Amino acid sequence: MNAKGYLIDLDGTLISGNQLLPDALWLLEQVKGRYMLVSNNAEHTPQQLSRRLKRLGLKVDADNIVLAGTTAIDRLAIDFPGATLLLIGSPALQRYARNKGLVLESHRPDLVLVTRDRQFSYAKIALAANAIRQGAALYVAAPDVSHPGPNGEPVPETGALAAAIISCAGHCQATVIGKPEPVLFQMACAKLNVLPEQAVMIGDNLQTDGLGAKRLNMAFRHVVNGQIREPAALTQGK
Ligand SMILES: [Mg+2]
Repeated sequence: MNAKGYLIDLDGTLISGNQLLPDALWLLEQVKGRYMLVSNNAEHTPQQLSRRLKRLGLKVDADNIVLAGTTAIDRLAIDFPGATLLLIGSPALQRYARNKGLVLESHRPDLVLVTRDRQFSYAKIALAANAIRQGAALYVAAPDVSHPGPNGEPVPETGALAAAIISCAGHCQATVIGKPEPVLFQMACAKLNVLPEQAVMIGDNLQTDGLGAKRLNMAFRHVVNGQIREPAALTQGK
């Protein structure tokens, strides 16, 4: 654990549902002051997630959390200041977008951003597909289509909602922000003030955490069954 910076995935790495995984506290202690949590979460703000983690016993400041939903909004606010945006997303992300100066608008918006929206509906597919047909640029906060629930059942994620919109809109280009695309990795490295090749990504998903790290020449540590410590370190009680 002697790299300059660590990017740490959340679900399947530190927590599973509402359970802390066994090595979570140990890991954060090892990398104190040198880590960012990097998650494709596209529903909550870092503040909300920080509070949730605190309830589970993990103390992580909001400043140490990089999420796909809010990072997508940050990017749009920087690249298209004052743009009109159709945001398919939670009330928390809608507030976040307004606070960043984006104008939420469902009629002829400049941009459409799809995040994880538990109120997703037929009407929203129609709105988004029509906005795209009329020329709005489509952004998708994260590519994941589902994650496993407590009993292994698929829980819908942003990618599934985006797929419905894209299939309705017909051929269209979508810009994806979350892992494995480079934006979250680069954002986290910038916050840690390290280069990607000086950092290590720790995560359970080869397709997002692993592939994204590889593309940036970043080392990757694969977490299987929530186990992060080396077996040798375990036997030494470290
Ligand atoms: Mg994960």
